Amino acid sequence: MPESSFSLRLEGLEMQFRRVRLHSREWLTPGYVRVRLVGEELTGFTSLGADDHIRIFFPEGEPEAIEELRAAPSREYTPARFGADWLDLEFAVHGDPAAGTAGVAAAWAATAPIGALAGVGGPRGSKVVEGRPDFWMLAGDETAVPAMRRFAGLMDDQARGRILVEVADTAHELPIDAPAGVAVEQVHRGTTAPASALAARLSALGGQERPRGSILGFIAAEQSIVKPGRDLLLERWGVPAEQTVIKGYWKRGETAEKTPR
Ligand SMILES: Cc1cc2nc3c(=O)[nH]c(=O)nc-3n(C[C@H](O)[C@H](O)[C@H](O)COP(=O)(O)OP(=O)(O)OC[C@H]3O[C@@H](n4cnc5c(N)ncnc54)[C@H](O)[C@@H]3O)c2cc1C
Repeated sequence: MPESSFSLRLEGLEMQFRRVRLHSREWLTPGYVRVRLVGEELTGFTSLGADDHIRIFFPEGEPEAIEELRAAPSREYTPARFGADWLDLEFAVHGDPAAGTAGVAAAWAATAPIGALAGVGGPRGSKVVEGRPDFWMLAGDETAVPAMRRFAGLMDDQARGRILVEVADTAHELPIDAPAGVAVEQVHRGTTAPASALAARLSALGGQERPRGSILGFIAAEQSIVKPGRDLLLERWGVPAEQTVIKGYWKRGETAEKTPR
């Protein structure tokens, strides 16, 4: 087999826990909000991989003890952008926070008062792109947009690829800036089940010619995307598993609550 033009190198990071405060929020669509977290403890925060994830802890009120903050409900998010003492996250706001039907994370992102305390754990490790993929195949729903935006930020002007973004409809589209050779397509799910429109689009791609050369494959959305994602990348296109990330970022009907770390 010829040597590939790139690899995804695993890099571990020392796990750190940080206290931050909500600084501001900006609604990018009616169902998607970017929040900025700030705090001195963000000094030294880094995220080396486009699909890195951190655990955000959402306490009720202002726990004084760090143990209490670490015991608060927590969820996984992608560091979208960060600087010396700030960190931007982007939240898909599902359900209705006012009616109490949103998850704890979505409700916090939509309604927590400016200045509210949160905890940030991680990232623990990263997959770092070394070299240059001949083709980028990215697909995901709103929850994967921060990671896909970060992957797009790694592409050079000559990059070739395809990015599929599953959103509800035109009003909820989330643009991704990418070089001219990378086609960005918004896939509308309308009222169909999450990930089903994306799955149909992936399956249609499988009937077309495989892109030439090495392929970096990133596919993340509701859990049911995993099988069609594997079918396309691993089975039909024969992409080596170590050059792909195929993940369920959330599961329909299940809270992502886990025992705090
Ligand atoms: C590696 C990784 C990175 C992630 N990065 C991001 C990110 O950057 N931005 C982001 O928005 N999400 C991201 N997610 C997904 C996020 O962690 C989940 O959506 C999480 O369940 C949200 O928590 P919650 O408290 O709002 O809802 P939960 O309490 O976990 O769930 C409550 C209910 O809402 C449903 N639900 C959860 N998420 C959604 C959704 N997106 N759409 C519709 N219904 C939903 C659940 O099925 C459940 O029925 C990431 C997940 C992983 C694993």
